[in-house]
Amino acid sequence: MDVKIPAGGLQVNGETRPARDGSEFAVFDPADQQLLAMVADASVSDGLAAVDAASAALGPFGALAPRARGEILRKAFELMTERSEELALLIVAENGKALPDARSEVTYAAEFFRWFAEEAVRVPGQLAVAPTNKNRILVMNQPIGVSLFITPWNFPAAMLTRKIGPALAAGCTVVCKPAEDTPLTALAIGEILTEAGAPAGVVNIITTSDPAPLVSALLDDPRVRKLSFTGSSEVGRILLAQASTRVISCSMELGGNAPFIVFADADLDRAVEGAMVAKLRNGGEACTAANRFYVEAAVAEEFSQRLSAAMGALKMGPGANEGVGIGPLINAAAVKTVSALVDDALRGGARALVGAATSAGSGNFYPPTVLVDIAPDAEILQKEIFGPVAPVLSFTSEDEAVALANDTEYGLVAYVYTSDLARGLRVSERLEAGMIGLNRGVVSDPAAPFGGVKQSGLGREGGHHGILEYLEAKYIATDW
Ligand code: ADP
Repeated sequence: MDVKIPAGGLQVNGETRPARDGSEFAVFDPADQQLLAMVADASVSDGLAAVDAASAALGPFGALAPRARGEILRKAFELMTERSEELALLIVAENGKALPDARSEVTYAAEFFRWFAEEAVRVPGQLAVAPTNKNRILVMNQPIGVSLFITPWNFPAAMLTRKIGPALAAGCTVVCKPAEDTPLTALAIGEILTEAGAPAGVVNIITTSDPAPLVSALLDDPRVRKLSFTGSSEVGRILLAQASTRVISCSMELGGNAPFIVFADADLDRAVEGAMVAKLRNGGEACTAANRFYVEAAVAEEFSQRLSAAMGALKMGPGANEGVGIGPLINAAAVKTVSALVDDALRGGARALVGAATSAGSGNFYPPTVLVDIAPDAEILQKEIFGPVAPVLSFTSEDEAVALANDTEYGLVAYVYTSDLARGLRVSERLEAGMIGLNRGVVSDPAAPFGGVKQSGLGREGGHHGILEYLEAKYIATDW
């Protein structure tokens, strides 16, 4: 199947059109750096036009029957499912991930539309008797308003549907700014939502190669009431500061530095299988990626050897090729960052059991790598690696494992492998993370609250929590 490229225009107010000044930017295939498409390069005035459209659509859309909003999302789920192969190939083309990974992403992404189609008709409210019995407390939840979404390139479909799903379910209208490396998947999803019946102005998609001025202008527009961002902690901090001027509600899904703890009593086959997914989903370019492996000393050597064998056996190549388990990284800068972290660890005394050299060729490839004997102060243990590199360290007690795991400014997810469920739950309680994979290498689930503590973010996406980020409580004090 050939890759089907969506029209590269801005999607504003139900129309697809060029940027006002006619400018465009290029999107490349990270496997061979070939040009994939040109897309419209929005300026500030295009961004404000999208806010005009979203603002005009807000009243009528919020007043639409919740069931009708749910039906739009349900239809979008069905269209995404019908077109899953086409969308998976588009994701491979612009993001580079291996095709099986891209297929899983499409399924995961579409499920947010199905889940929030069901949540649209279950918005909670509350009626209570005041403790004095002098009045009644009535609480209704209303759509927060025009929502601005900024999404990353690592999951170009799922990071967008995870925001659009709950926003539309709640009755909000949205302006989406996808990452400049991967704007095409967002445009394809925008087309699907229009086809599914989203009224003009409800979903607007603005592609740009220069996000900073456009996003600043939008955060300075009083009609924008919500920012949901997924990306690096550095950019998240800048946006939180900008959003503070107009006190905009923020949901932030930022970086991670996930520990993966293996106790000696764990089923090592399952632990290695889980480690492969936790480390290599999306080639390691995921905020949930296991970044540091802490293995109890008695099994550390065996675990490292088994993980190296499994990682070394993966076929690396262009994501859509048969049998490929690991595609290229997103761009040349990503390869440089990953190599620099590995080289620094090696200089500090680490050994590579497998990998650790960039391959020759035109694509942005970095091989699956396992490092041992890493210095405790190595940069690779503090930074988000965002590549297929597994640093393995050992520990000797439960307390030490917990202390090492928590020794980071991040707190998105942690993984724990043990056959002792009581220990697993005890350790889970002590880990400073928003999510725990207990004997599982994947936590992401549209029906569960995804999000982090500490500097990994604010708010939760998915589950019953997800829609609350797009609703504001209005309390009515009354007496009858
Ligand atoms: P990553 O490091 O994963 O590329 P970034 O945080 O740089 O993540 O990018 C995530 C998203 O944030 C992308 O859509 C990008 O265009 C956008 N972005 C980057 N810098 C800014 C900025 N200064 N203002 C607004 N958006 C930005």
